[in-house]
Amino acid sequence: MKDLTNYPFKLLKLTLVAFAVLFIAGIVVLKLGSMVMGIVLISCGIFAIIVMLTVFWRCPKCDETLPLGAMKTRKCPYCGEKID
Ligand SMILES: [Zn+2]
Repeated sequence: MKDLTNYPFKLLKLTLVAFAVLFIAGIVVLKLGSMVMGIVLISCGIFAIIVMLTVFWRCPKCDETLPLGAMKTRKCPYCGEKID
Protein backbone atom coordinates (compact mmCIF):
# COMPACT_ATOMS: atom_id res chain seq x y z
CA MET A 1 0.00 0.00 0.00
CA LYS A 2 1.29 3.45 -0.93
CA ASP A 3 1.72 6.07 1.73
CA LEU A 4 -1.56 7.98 1.84
CA THR A 5 0.14 11.12 3.11
CA ASN A 6 1.42 11.59 -0.43
CA TYR A 7 -2.20 11.86 -1.54
CA PRO A 8 -3.75 14.49 0.72
CA PHE A 9 -6.85 14.84 -1.46
CA LYS A 10 -7.61 11.10 -1.36
CA LEU A 11 -6.98 11.14 2.37
CA LEU A 12 -9.34 14.10 2.74
CA LYS A 13 -12.09 12.23 0.91
CA LEU A 14 -11.55 9.15 3.11
CA THR A 15 -11.70 11.35 6.20
CA LEU A 16 -14.95 12.94 5.03
CA VAL A 17 -16.44 9.47 4.47
CA ALA A 18 -15.25 8.40 7.93
CA PHE A 19 -16.76 11.57 9.40
CA ALA A 20 -20.10 10.95 7.68
CA VAL A 21 -20.19 7.35 8.95
CA LEU A 22 -19.25 8.34 12.51
CA PHE A 23 -21.70 11.24 12.48
CA ILE A 24 -24.62 9.13 11.26
CA ALA A 25 -23.71 6.32 13.66
CA GLY A 26 -23.53 8.91 16.44
CA ILE A 27 -26.99 10.27 15.62
CA VAL A 28 -28.44 6.74 15.49
CA VAL A 29 -26.87 5.85 18.85
CA LEU A 30 -28.16 9.13 20.31
CA LYS A 31 -31.67 8.29 19.12
CA LEU A 32 -31.33 4.82 20.63
CA GLY A 33 -30.75 6.53 23.94
CA SER A 34 -27.01 6.28 24.56
CA MET A 35 -26.07 9.93 24.75
CA VAL A 36 -22.46 9.43 25.87
CA MET A 37 -21.65 6.93 23.09
CA GLY A 38 -23.36 9.15 20.51
CA ILE A 39 -21.36 12.19 21.54
CA VAL A 40 -18.14 10.13 21.58
CA LEU A 41 -18.79 8.91 18.01
CA ILE A 42 -19.57 12.39 16.68
CA SER A 43 -16.54 13.82 18.51
CA CYS A 44 -14.32 11.18 16.92
CA GLY A 45 -15.58 12.24 13.48
CA ILE A 46 -14.90 15.92 14.17
CA PHE A 47 -11.51 15.03 15.64
CA ALA A 48 -10.61 13.04 12.50
CA ILE A 49 -11.36 16.08 10.31
CA ILE A 50 -9.35 18.42 12.56
CA VAL A 51 -6.36 16.05 12.55
CA MET A 52 -6.65 15.64 8.79
CA LEU A 53 -6.65 19.40 8.18
CA THR A 54 -3.91 20.25 10.67
CA VAL A 55 -1.54 17.30 10.23
CA PHE A 56 -2.09 15.74 6.82
CA TRP A 57 -3.39 18.60 4.65
CA ARG A 58 0.04 19.51 3.33
CA CYS A 59 1.88 19.44 0.05
CA PRO A 60 3.64 16.08 -0.55
CA LYS A 61 6.41 17.87 -2.47
CA CYS A 62 7.34 21.02 -0.53
CA ASP A 63 5.66 20.01 2.77
CA GLU A 64 3.92 23.38 3.17
CA THR A 65 0.56 23.36 4.94
CA LEU A 66 -2.05 23.84 2.23
CA PRO A 67 -4.76 26.50 2.39
CA LEU A 68 -8.40 25.32 2.33
CA GLY A 69 -8.67 26.80 -1.18
CA ALA A 70 -6.37 24.03 -2.43
CA MET A 71 -9.37 21.67 -2.16
CA LYS A 72 -10.82 23.49 -5.18
CA THR A 73 -7.71 24.26 -7.19
CA ARG A 74 -6.12 20.82 -6.46
CA LYS A 75 -2.73 22.52 -6.69
CA CYS A 76 -0.11 23.59 -4.17
CA PRO A 77 0.02 27.41 -4.24
CA TYR A 78 3.69 27.33 -3.16
CA CYS A 79 5.32 24.98 -5.65
CA GLY A 80 2.50 24.22 -8.11
CA GLU A 81 2.45 20.47 -7.32
CA LYS A 82 -0.80 18.74 -8.24
CA ILE A 83 -2.75 17.57 -5.20
CA ASP A 84 -4.17 14.07 -5.66
ZN1 LIG B 1 4.06 22.44 -2.63
